[in-house]
Amino acid sequence: MMTLTSYGAAQEVTGSKHLLEVGGSRILIDCGMFQGRRKESRAKNEDMPFDPATVTACINTHGHLDHCGAYPVLVKRGFRGLIWATAATVDVAQLVMADAARIQVADARYLERVLSQNPRDRREVVPPLYDEEDAAQATGLFRPVAYRQPVEIAPGVTATFLEAGHILGSAVVRLDVVDGDQRRTIVFTGDLGRRNTPILRDPDAAPDADWLVCESTYGNRLHDDLAFAQEELAAVVRDTVAKGGRVLIPAFAVGRTQELVWHLHQLNESGRIPAIPVYVDSPMATRATGIFTKHTECYDEETVRRFVDHGESPFRFGALKFTASAEDSKKLNDVRGPCIVIASSGMCEAGRILHHLVRDVGDPRNTILVVGFMAEHTLGRALADRRPEVRIFGEPHRLEARVKILNAFSAHADRNEIGAWVAPMDQARLKGVLLVHGEPVAQASLGDHLRSLGVRRVESLVAGRSVSL
Ligand SMILES: [Zn+2]
Repeated sequence: MMTLTSYGAAQEVTGSKHLLEVGGSRILIDCGMFQGRRKESRAKNEDMPFDPATVTACINTHGHLDHCGAYPVLVKRGFRGLIWATAATVDVAQLVMADAARIQVADARYLERVLSQNPRDRREVVPPLYDEEDAAQATGLFRPVAYRQPVEIAPGVTATFLEAGHILGSAVVRLDVVDGDQRRTIVFTGDLGRRNTPILRDPDAAPDADWLVCESTYGNRLHDDLAFAQEELAAVVRDTVAKGGRVLIPAFAVGRTQELVWHLHQLNESGRIPAIPVYVDSPMATRATGIFTKHTECYDEETVRRFVDHGESPFRFGALKFTASAEDSKKLNDVRGPCIVIASSGMCEAGRILHHLVRDVGDPRNTILVVGFMAEHTLGRALADRRPEVRIFGEPHRLEARVKILNAFSAHADRNEIGAWVAPMDQARLKGVLLVHGEPVAQASLGDHLRSLGVRRVESLVAGRSVSL
């Protein structure tokens, strides 16, 4: 008897947690943080709907917060097994969990201070889900595995990490499971990336599986071509420089920032943009770039040939500067003339990007470049919607800067790209595709598309409802 139950990222996109039960083993694939409306996510993140102490082993597909951010909670609640991941994911997850811990602790302290000064404020201080020590405990249970190297993670359960092409270290995970005379191969896409993205290899094929657990984030969308993105980026920079303005790019510290640096490096080298300074103004992005620089084993052939073979790094060029300290960051205020500033957070909810926005949104010479998904009710969404007025640190500001949106920078495969990855699988063997990590409308569209390509059975996993495999 083998069953799979999803406890997160079932018909939604955050909090990935999928529990595979086979023989006496319980394997948890990803343990991500729920994000979204504060109260609802808090309740979901605190509550583990299964006993963590009974989980035999964990698999982490990649180091994004919505896939690894709840391991410290799992460990606090009694999980004592090992967490298997690629070597790069071990480093990324460590950085992401520690950062999440720091933010939660800082938020709680800040609110405590505010409340102590305003006795009439009725809000309650929410204790952090975990602190840095808890995050370190979880990190200690991670074990690195090489890509394509099968490893037995529990009796009768062998895991193989294949390239997912989504972020550094990301993996499609193949589980070969034996229970008595039953054998099953179950493939989890984690988050599936795209072909031809910079730095990373294309996703590996996983041709033979009995079941595929497949993400569906952009199951109803088609992205712009990546080659087009670089040209657009160059045009934005040239236009803004001609006006004497700055280009502000809110970007996630892990993945998107490094991808932008790679593109700007190319554009700078080939003279397609003027040699203006490029600042990465984020301590987290600076650390993440260190991890990207270290894990050359994750690079695609082109990146190895162009950079590694010459002892160079894709993340270093003359015009590029990382500002680690708060002081360096403040000095950016004095920079005169055109420049490019990349800062987090990606949706402009916190972090240094806010200080840049305060200074730059009111100047029509500047450009705010939107390169990622902006969720509802975020400042990033207000900017993307080009509201005439936006609130930053509670203060109203007129939005006079130009806002440009580039849709081609997605790290997720779109509907056709997922289809092109699933279609070559052995459809006679594939019993079904179970969709996770997507809103219902995206899943419906992807389901239709997969069926049109010859997949016999496609269904969405429902939270808490087990499927027999
Ligand atoms: Zn991801």
